Amino acid sequence: MTATDNVHLHEINKFGSMAELWWDTQGEFKTLHDINPLRLEFIERHAEISGKRYVDVGCGGGILTEGLARHGADALGIDLSDELIDIADLHSLESGVNAHYQKISVESLAEQQPGSFDHVTCMEMLEHVPDPNSIIAACATLVKPGGMVFFSTLNRQPKAYLMAIVAAEHILRMLPKGTHDYKTFIKPSELSSSARAAGLDLQAMIGIEYNPFDKRFRLGKDVGVNYIAAFKRPE
Ligand code: SAH
Repeated sequence: MTATDNVHLHEINKFGSMAELWWDTQGEFKTLHDINPLRLEFIERHAEISGKRYVDVGCGGGILTEGLARHGADALGIDLSDELIDIADLHSLESGVNAHYQKISVESLAEQQPGSFDHVTCMEMLEHVPDPNSIIAACATLVKPGGMVFFSTLNRQPKAYLMAIVAAEHILRMLPKGTHDYKTFIKPSELSSSARAAGLDLQAMIGIEYNPFDKRFRLGKDVGVNYIAAFKRPE
């Protein structure tokens, strides 16, 4: 598979068609806005942000990329959607943060700039590509020895089907219908072994839990639905 093959165009078009809704904190992508402080908190537990060079893979409209930049990172966001790269660019200009965007596949960037980022993030993206292993390997190539790679995704188990698809898309309307396809979800053991095969060591994994009563997300032990993991490329 070549770099340009590892993409579902319907996924890129689906997200791209909603580009102008990306920064509405109460809109279709509210969930990404709500979980963003938790992702930054988890990243900060395992890596320095300020002064470090980050690449955010599958950045969408740049919610995490900008968050990293606000915390002092030199942040590059990459995605394959023209519309999202445009929205991300415009938003960073308005916010005046040190975030930059490029339309390029992670595999191509890894060929061009191996080992040139202090840390790498790839959030809520692996479940939208044909070959997540190729994305994971490219992220491992992009990070400097000693650097961290962060992934978040959805767990392929019935609870995630109920919460992330039935509840979030159909009952609570927290996500647009059709955002997720259960069979593309990734078990923590699969993520870890793919990362291991790419030369990354698992450092920590934590659940991003949703409490329907107070409607808040928090980091916790339950990795049954959405989870985030930190891997290190050995020195
Ligand atoms: N990481 C962002 C957005 C997640 S939505 C966040 O968590 O805030 C998933 C994103 O992955 C979309 O922006 C979509 O365009 C992107 N994407 C899907 N397949 C991709 C691919 N093969 N290469 C790069 N980006 C991709």
